[in-house]
Amino acid sequence: MSGPDRAVVLGAGIAGLAAAAAVSGRFREVIVVDRDVMDPDEQDELEPGSGAVGRRGTPQDRHLHVLLAGGQNALEGLFPGVGDELVRRGALQSDALDHTVLQVGGHRFRAGASGLTLLSAGRPLIESVLRRRVHALPNVHLVGGRAAVGLLLDASAQRTAGVVVERDDSGGGTESLPAGLVVVATGSGTRLNDWLEANGWPPLVLDTVPIDLTYTSRPFRLREGALGPVVSMGSGSTPNRPRGAALGLVENGRAMVSLMGVLGDQPPMELPGFLDFAGDVALPEVAEALRGAETLGPAARFRHPVSVRRHFERAQLPEGLLILGDALCTLNPAYGQGMTVAAQQAGLLASAGPVPSGAGRWQTRALQRRLARVADAAWKLSRGPDAAFAAGAPRPSPLEVLFGRYLARLQALAAVDPRAGTAWLRVSSLVDPPRALLETGLVRAVVAGPATYDNAFSREDGNGIQQGWGGRNRP
Ligand SMILES: Cc1cc2nc3c(=O)[nH]c(=O)nc-3n(C[C@H](O)[C@H](O)[C@H](O)COP(=O)(O)OP(=O)(O)OC[C@H]3O[C@@H](n4cnc5c(N)ncnc54)[C@H](O)[C@@H]3O)c2cc1C
Repeated sequence: MSGPDRAVVLGAGIAGLAAAAAVSGRFREVIVVDRDVMDPDEQDELEPGSGAVGRRGTPQDRHLHVLLAGGQNALEGLFPGVGDELVRRGALQSDALDHTVLQVGGHRFRAGASGLTLLSAGRPLIESVLRRRVHALPNVHLVGGRAAVGLLLDASAQRTAGVVVERDDSGGGTESLPAGLVVVATGSGTRLNDWLEANGWPPLVLDTVPIDLTYTSRPFRLREGALGPVVSMGSGSTPNRPRGAALGLVENGRAMVSLMGVLGDQPPMELPGFLDFAGDVALPEVAEALRGAETLGPAARFRHPVSVRRHFERAQLPEGLLILGDALCTLNPAYGQGMTVAAQQAGLLASAGPVPSGAGRWQTRALQRRLARVADAAWKLSRGPDAAFAAGAPRPSPLEVLFGRYLARLQALAAVDPRAGTAWLRVSSLVDPPRALLETGLVRAVVAGPATYDNAFSREDGNGIQQGWGGRNRP
């Protein structure tokens, strides 16, 4: 097959699988290349609840992953019926506010029906279901066990001609894989910047937010009835209570518990220290849920030193090249938005392009700008609050400070009014754009609502006095 008839997708994580499905209708052949070997038995029908296992290329898959409503909608568009399939395989779908204990910005959100679903499952299960869907597409081939090591350009150096991948024999060496479109979905450790620099491109412009976040996670079996109707709980870090936690029921009757420390605070791996840390989180329900729980496996740790936005859209990339998922924007995982952004970017690929310009040539620069914009909301929602933690983080703009103060008041209102919690969740689940939070009725309610001091841009000074906005209504 000639290059222009073929698309190559690098990376078979969430972004790569979703992107392969998205472009499969536009190419005679789509090859998905991953450095990990894919499980050959996966084609077989799996029993409900049967365990999918993690893999080396995605070390984050030992940690709790929830799929937000925005991501479920996007995946449903690419893989119709995938939500039901995940539930048949053991994933839990619940109301994001009614079946959740949620503490955001120091405020415990009041429960109530939000109409938004939250899908809680082991990350290997989510990936396994998507992988099987992709396997079933007749013109898509998954090639595991081969790392991509470089980009091929045509003679003009302004267009991609394919990729260089490791050979599939044990003798080492590399070979070329011609393609008209290359989609890079190689995750947070992507080497694409290096490949471009090796071909003469200037260093990429990056936005970074240092946070030095460490996740430590363990699977448990909770005692009978430990959670009641609750399916998941989470407490985000604030400058005044920086230790965070998330707990979610997942397939096979397990609960996955992820503890989070920022600025170098590392939740311990061994059980007594793990439980102590859980007891220091602002959400006592987590420690309570773990009382008498059975541990089901060892702890895993993941460090996220810095959130990174890679501005490929500003780099005048060669045509025929697209980047999405964590390779484009590695978000703070504590917000649970990475899979959703990846799925929405793939949704954009399916609906908007890439655009052919004759002779199998694909225009991609304009589309790359749109892909970058899909990450805007998630990036901005976490950038402001995270900047409050770290010395060296970029100072928030005056507009971000103002919006942060507004959000803090909105979160305080959500403690008493589920409508405010729902509005917040619709935006943080990437269903509504952030501007939805400025709807007139909501703004009025927020302004009239309770004030808060534990907001994203306040922290205690040495005397325990909180430096923040407004001095009125101090509790
Ligand atoms: C601790 C933690 C918890 C998280 N929790 C959530 C959550 O609750 N909800 C949520 O939505 N998101 C969460 N995320 C984020 C989520 O995991 C990522 O956003 C998502 O996996 C991005 O998908 P991706 O396909 O871009 O990258 P990945 O899933 O990382 O996949 C990249 C793939 O590329 C392959 N690869 C890498 N280099 C090469 C190469 N050179 N050649 C070939 N293949 C290569 C890898 O093997 C891998 O399969 C969390 C992340 C972390 C770290």
